[in-house]
Amino acid sequence: MSVTEGLRPAAFFEYFEAIAKIPHGSGNTDAISEYVYNEAVRLGYEARRDAHNNVVVHAPCSPGYENAPTVMLQGHMDMVCEKGPGSTHDFTKDPLRLSLDGKYLHADNTTLGGDDGAAVCLMLMILQDKSLPHPALECVFTTDEETGMFGADGLDCSDLHAKYLINLDNEIEDSFVVACAGGARFEADVPVTRKKVTKPAYKLSVMTEKGGHSGMFIHKNRPNANLVLARWLGYLNNEGVPFDLISIDGGMMDNAIPMASSAVIMTELEIDFLLFQEIFDEAFKDCDDHPHLSAEALGVQTMDAVSADDKFNLLNAFCTLPNGAQAYMEDMPELVRTSLNFGILKTLPDKVLCRSSVRSSDAGEKDALLGKLKALYEAIPGTVTSVSGNYPGWAYVKDSRLRTLMMDTYNRYYAPESGRTAKAEAIHAGLECGILLSKMPGLDIVSIGPDMMDIHTPKERLDVESTDRFCRFVLQVLREMKN
Ligand SMILES: [Zn+2]
Repeated sequence: MSVTEGLRPAAFFEYFEAIAKIPHGSGNTDAISEYVYNEAVRLGYEARRDAHNNVVVHAPCSPGYENAPTVMLQGHMDMVCEKGPGSTHDFTKDPLRLSLDGKYLHADNTTLGGDDGAAVCLMLMILQDKSLPHPALECVFTTDEETGMFGADGLDCSDLHAKYLINLDNEIEDSFVVACAGGARFEADVPVTRKKVTKPAYKLSVMTEKGGHSGMFIHKNRPNANLVLARWLGYLNNEGVPFDLISIDGGMMDNAIPMASSAVIMTELEIDFLLFQEIFDEAFKDCDDHPHLSAEALGVQTMDAVSADDKFNLLNAFCTLPNGAQAYMEDMPELVRTSLNFGILKTLPDKVLCRSSVRSSDAGEKDALLGKLKALYEAIPGTVTSVSGNYPGWAYVKDSRLRTLMMDTYNRYYAPESGRTAKAEAIHAGLECGILLSKMPGLDIVSIGPDMMDIHTPKERLDVESTDRFCRFVLQVLREMKN
């Protein structure tokens, strides 16, 4: 007897068990891609598989849906491979060991691949039942979403004609994603000249407690350790403390709010550096994260200090550097539309490297912000060394027929059952929807999914009741799309 015996929809969970037997971590998608392609061909569909292992299946409309626009269903085949302590699971060859725990399906001390196996299984379930009423479908199975959306990026869309896209890569049943951010990594160098100085040296450090992903937590106004440190140095400057700057470094990744930053300075004055803690306690008193200052005396040292002019320019630049949430969604004012995170600061002998990650669902706003950064660094003067990892966003559309239809359908048929109502949400991070929209302008898009907990961790689990409702909901939406 299989683990999912008796769960509904039966076909969905049969496919879930089948793909659990096929290792399909990101970058290891040959086998799952072949499985999905073969299954589509076996069922009699026109299908193609490309060099990125994406699979595209064309399903003709049911009788009575000849006038309905084509709908694309889409999700990614790859999964995140994480295992808990003590697990000997080999993601390159071992099948996932599924088990059922009350209302959840999970795997034994590994990720489950519900993200985004739910999409793969729902699409296969629809394809295998030719009695289901629906418009013409383009089922798109992409690869390597988790490591950089490489499948979607490489997908040839020239044979795709969908007007609507239902992306199946969300993990909250009542959340209807209607926009996502595009982004870019901005890097600039500020050159510095140095002179030898012999004086007492100090290491000033800032540590925070939470930090977090720069897309998901930027609206919380958490302290950015790099900027707290820069402000601290700015206060010393304003107080007239004569000091030399040796280095300033902080942050590990451009897309994480930096939690630790430190500077080495030299000064002959004896200062209680920690007096400034009070200012930051006050500044972040309503925030869920706090900066902690510390100062360590390093004794008298001889070091190459940054010239006074360069120090002045650097501190001024950091004072004016935009950071954090910059604009909010018009119709959903609690959601961030545009933000940036000053993630990395690194001092080398001849320059200081500065890196920010910029996000916006509005392409024009993203470009304007990149332009602002460029202007700021060039005024120091520094050099913009690269704008990379540029990926397109998906802007909120005021009038979306698909969004209205889907949210109304959910509220009419499924809200009474789940006790929840449909909520429109915007994700302040990248989704494959942004890439597909850039290739198919005008596409009307909504992203949905069943309830999943702790995705990308060994505790990942899929709510089986929510999955059943989610599948019935998608079938109902397709049934309603007659014209
Ligand atoms: Zn996913």
